[in-house]
Amino acid sequence: MKTYDVAVAGGGLIGASIALELACAGLKVGVFDAQKPGREASWASAGMISPSPESAAMTSVLPMSLASVAIYPEFIRRVEELSGQMAGYRKHGALDVLLTEKETKEVPDILLLHRASGLQAEALSGEQACELEPALTAEVRGAILRHDEASLDNRVFTEAALEAARRKGAEIYSNNGAKSLWLEGSACKGLQLENGRVEARWTVIAAGCFSAQIEDAAAYAPVVPAKGQMLCLRCDGVHITRDLWSNHMYLVPRNDGRIIAGSTIEYEGFDRSVTAAGMKRILTGAISLVPALEKARIEETWAGLRPDTPDHLPILGPTDREGLLVATGHFRSGILLAPITAQLVREWVTTQKVSVDWTPFSPMRFQEKRHTRTA
Ligand SMILES: Cc1cc2nc3c(=O)[nH]c(=O)nc-3n(C[C@H](O)[C@H](O)[C@H](O)COP(=O)(O)OP(=O)(O)OC[C@H]3O[C@@H](n4cnc5c(N)ncnc54)[C@H](O)[C@@H]3O)c2cc1C
Repeated sequence: MKTYDVAVAGGGLIGASIALELACAGLKVGVFDAQKPGREASWASAGMISPSPESAAMTSVLPMSLASVAIYPEFIRRVEELSGQMAGYRKHGALDVLLTEKETKEVPDILLLHRASGLQAEALSGEQACELEPALTAEVRGAILRHDEASLDNRVFTEAALEAARRKGAEIYSNNGAKSLWLEGSACKGLQLENGRVEARWTVIAAGCFSAQIEDAAAYAPVVPAKGQMLCLRCDGVHITRDLWSNHMYLVPRNDGRIIAGSTIEYEGFDRSVTAAGMKRILTGAISLVPALEKARIEETWAGLRPDTPDHLPILGPTDREGLLVATGHFRSGILLAPITAQLVREWVTTQKVSVDWTPFSPMRFQEKRHTRTA
C-alpha cells in the first residue's frame, strides 16, 4: 500500500492546483481520478476569472475571489514555466451590455455593489460601448465596464497545471477513483480506491460534482451537478476584445480567434446532452449581442457539470474527521478560485492556519443544519 502526505480525490483544476501547491511545498502528493483527469467541469468551462459578485447574496465569497485574482498572475507564471504550456491568459476586462431601458435602470445598484466590493466598474453610454467593442449591436443602451476581469484557456490550463504538478513530483493516477473514505474511529486515514487503498496524513475531497458519490463524503460535500451548455464560434472579421455579458449569457474571446458562447444552468442530474433549446437560447443571445455572429461557424458544442451546493457557496476546509479536508462545490467560480483554494489547503496542511477566513465555507455547515432541523 502506498503512503502519501496528501491524497487528493479528483484531478480537475481544483485537485491539480492543490497538488501543485503541495508538491511545491515539498509534500508527497497522490491525485486519484475516476477517469482521465481534467476532462470534466474544468474542461467544459468558459475560463473567466471574474470576481464580480452576481448578486448581493454572493458577496461572502468576495475576499476569496479578490485574493485569488491577486495571486493569479504568479500562479499562471509558475504553471507555464513548469509545464512549458501557455495558459491563454487575457486581462482585458469585461463589458456588461445593457440592451433595454429596464436594464439601464439597474446601473446605479450594480456600480454600488462593485465599488463596495473594492472592484472597479464604470458606466458607459451605448456609443462609448460600441467604440470599445465595434462588433456590438447598435441596439446597445449602455454598458458597465468591469476592469478587473480576465480569462484563460481552461482546457490548456488544467492540462498544464496537472503537468506542472507532475514535474514537481506529484503522482497523478487515471481510472482509479475513490470509492469511499478510509475511516478509522474519528480519523480519515486515506482513500479506498477502485483498485486498492492509499494511506495519507491528509485526504482532500476535490471530485467536483461527483464528490457526493464517494461513500461517506456526501455529509461533508453534498454537491450536485448543474449542467451548462456551451458553443465555440469562429467568424472571420468579427473581433471581440473583452468578455461580453448580456442577460446571463456571455461571449468569451480566445487568443486564437475562437469565441466561446454560454451558457445554461440546468438541474438534470448527470446528463451532459446538448439540446436544441440550449443551443437556441445561447445563439439567440449571442446574435442579439453581436449581430455579425449570424455568419459564424459553429466549431464545437458541449455541456459540462458545475459542482453546485445547497447554498451555491463553495465547500472548503477541515471536517470533524481528523485528516479530512474538502475543496469542492465551486459552482460557477472554480477557475477563478483555483489558486486561492490551493493556497489555503497548503496553508492548512502545513500550519493549520489560513490567510483568508474560510469558515463561511466550512464542510461542517451542512451537518449543523441537519442537526438543527432534527432537533
Ligand atoms: C459550462 C461551464 C462554464 C463555466 N464557466 C466558468 C467560468 O467562466 N469561470 C469559473 O471560474 N468557473 C466556471 N465554471 C465552473 C468551473 O469550471 C468549476 O467550478 C471547476 O472547473 C470545478 O473544478 P473541479 O476540479 O472541482 O471539478 P472538475 O473539473 O469537475 O473535476 C472533478 C474531477 O473529479 C473526478 N472524479 C469523479 N469522480 C471521482 C471519484 N470517485 N474519485 C476521484 N475522482 C473523481 C472527475 O473525473 C474529474 O476529473 C464553469 C463550469 C461549466 C460547466
